[in-house]
Amino acid sequence: MKGKVHLVGAGPGDHDLLTLRAAGLLKTADVILHDDLVGQGILELASPKTLLQNVGKRCGKKKISQEEINFLMIEFASTGKNVVRLKGGDPLIFGRLGEEIKALREAGIEFEIVPGVTSAFGAAAAGEIPLTYRHVSSAVVFLTGQTADGNQEEDWQKFVSAQATLVIYMPGQDYSRTAKRLATAGAGPETLCAIVSRASWPDQQLFVTHLAALPRAPHFAAPTLLIVGDVVRFSTRFQSLTASMAIHPSISNLNPAQGPVA
Ligand code: SAH
Repeated sequence: MKGKVHLVGAGPGDHDLLTLRAAGLLKTADVILHDDLVGQGILELASPKTLLQNVGKRCGKKKISQEEINFLMIEFASTGKNVVRLKGGDPLIFGRLGEEIKALREAGIEFEIVPGVTSAFGAAAAGEIPLTYRHVSSAVVFLTGQTADGNQEEDWQKFVSAQATLVIYMPGQDYSRTAKRLATAGAGPETLCAIVSRASWPDQQLFVTHLAALPRAPHFAAPTLLIVGDVVRFSTRFQSLTASMAIHPSISNLNPAQGPVA
């Protein structure tokens, strides 16, 4: 009898943001293959009999390849084990889920996807930033600051011109590169940017700036993501910015609380 693989989202960090279904599956799994970015306390839900294996790409000295992860899932499930493949945030967003689904289908292994809270939502909640707001932003685009090995950087012009809120995952340490990409795509120097570090972890941090100053932003502990767009005005840190910036009439009367998020 073959086992089953559950492809499960662990949420952005705080274990309270785990879904009830994910928590139940962690308790009954025979094997948990997890990423690095899994919050504290989450793996403690597993039974002492469960085999826990970190397959995070940064785990240990040697990088674990996607093929090796696929192999492990298939091997364990083929011998009847109940496997949880636990991924940070939501497995459907920048989670290599496509590769894993393909491999499981080819191997004839049954699987089920359990969504999680993606870090964009954890970060927006931490910063008190609505990702959409009437007349300001009616769309949200999830982007990655990294390109697949050897691929050319994607042109962001179509996203900037859509007047959508941009959420940039994996922005890397070099904010000047990201700032240049956004400016080249047509974003103005006063475009608001929020850097959210370790959203929903006890040491989460929020920093708000505008595009022209983004290259000079301090470095924060990973993981971080960037939220870009007018909705950043809602954030708890917005008031610390210069008063000279134009404020959209529909949100000018907001008076966000000051002070750190954490
Ligand atoms: N599937 C994940 C994303 C994986 S890509 C999700 O849905 O969230 C990894 C990137 O996610 C990191 O480089 C970072 O940009 C972002 N990220 C993950 N956890 C985060 C957190 N707690 N705070 C801020 N960014 C986070």
